[in-house]
Amino acid sequence: METREIIRKKRDGGKLHREEIESLLRGYLQGMVRDYQMAAFLMASFLKGLDDEETIWFTDIMVSTGKRLDLSEIPNPKVDKHSTGGVGDKVSIVLAPLLSAADVVVPMIAGRGLGHTGGTIDKLEAIPGFRTDLSLLELRNTLWETGVVISAQSEEIAPLDRRIYELRNATATVESIPLIASSIMSKKLAEGLNGLVLDVKTGKGAFMKTIEEAEQLARKMVEIGNASGVKTIALITDMDEPLGRAVGNSLEIRECINILKGREEPGLSDLILTLGAYMLVIAEEMVVFNENDDSVSFKDIEITDELLDAKRLKLQGLIDSGDALSKFVEMVESQGGNPEVVANPALMPVAKNILPVEAPEDGIVQGIDAEGIGRASVLLGAGRQRPDESIDHAAGIILNRKSSQEVKKGDFLAVLHYNDDRNLEAALKLVRESFRIGKEPPPERELIKKVIL
Ligand code: URA
Repeated sequence: METREIIRKKRDGGKLHREEIESLLRGYLQGMVRDYQMAAFLMASFLKGLDDEETIWFTDIMVSTGKRLDLSEIPNPKVDKHSTGGVGDKVSIVLAPLLSAADVVVPMIAGRGLGHTGGTIDKLEAIPGFRTDLSLLELRNTLWETGVVISAQSEEIAPLDRRIYELRNATATVESIPLIASSIMSKKLAEGLNGLVLDVKTGKGAFMKTIEEAEQLARKMVEIGNASGVKTIALITDMDEPLGRAVGNSLEIRECINILKGREEPGLSDLILTLGAYMLVIAEEMVVFNENDDSVSFKDIEITDELLDAKRLKLQGLIDSGDALSKFVEMVESQGGNPEVVANPALMPVAKNILPVEAPEDGIVQGIDAEGIGRASVLLGAGRQRPDESIDHAAGIILNRKSSQEVKKGDFLAVLHYNDDRNLEAALKLVRESFRIGKEPPPERELIKKVIL
């Protein structure tokens, strides 16, 4: 099949056959299709789109270029969660051990920070010794032992996705809904899952700025997941304002430990319990293991508010009893991390300097721009300005005030944590500009905007 003809067909808005996509992707992996040809194809797909069927084939072929975790011998349901990325989004670090405490196996392949958004892997690496480079065999063994693992994408999992992502980054083709959907789902489908809950972020701090874009992405991913035998549900959630109070790696792990110890954080705690409730609904109500073979089928049930409340209650119970925290300790130990961080978070990197940001006037916080706070934390060293940069795990921002809270002039709105002051002035300016203060209470924000089943 001639590569040029495949590119031409997509360029002209045609629909590709599975064989054409396969020839292109496998040819690229084998070096027969060149970077410039793949770049041209990606731009054609960016401009003309891929329909649902093409996106499902694209994803399936990407998965098949790597290995899949085979967890079929583990008799528990395997369910994961994925977020499209936000600021202060530390939900996965609490949810994975929490669901594991409820006997759900959670084989989570997570990512690093991207642009102004943080990444679960960077956060966990703030824990001394914590390994995120587990091989597929190590992932499987750890899952057998503890039922939960959070690790980075290795060469073994969807290797083509890594190469294509680099090319997309260099050719301004990242922001394409089918390409994002297939990239995310290719990693998730390699995990050997029965179920998946997607947290698709929308708002100022998200990649999908509007709810319409977020919904399109959510629907594509739900379509791909279900077509691949993984029961998939997406929640579209707010990312106008950072989640929780901590932004930055060590600081966010501290916040996670506090939540696992029972502290409630408005917004963040609700989101954790709601996403967790959907994961439990899939695991406990929908997945059916067929007795005679390894196959799995799904029961179609109505997800009522009562059912979700019951699952939320169960998860809250696992936090209150300390079981979720014990699972977190087990997970940290099994991945080589120092579990003492739970009792003594100062064992993680701590910044040498702090700088409070004062309120310029009396009033009520109307909103905090998540992108501004995310960019400020990158400037302080918590994220990367270039992909090959190292990060400072100690750096970040604590938000002392959130939306709807009153402030007096001179109160601390936030505190910057930093070691390197090269970009301190720019970060300070961004944080100041990110807080909007007014006189009237702001309208209540809706955290969960839509559920796509
Ligand atoms: N995250 C991914 O893994 N892939 C994308 O394309 C975008 C975000």
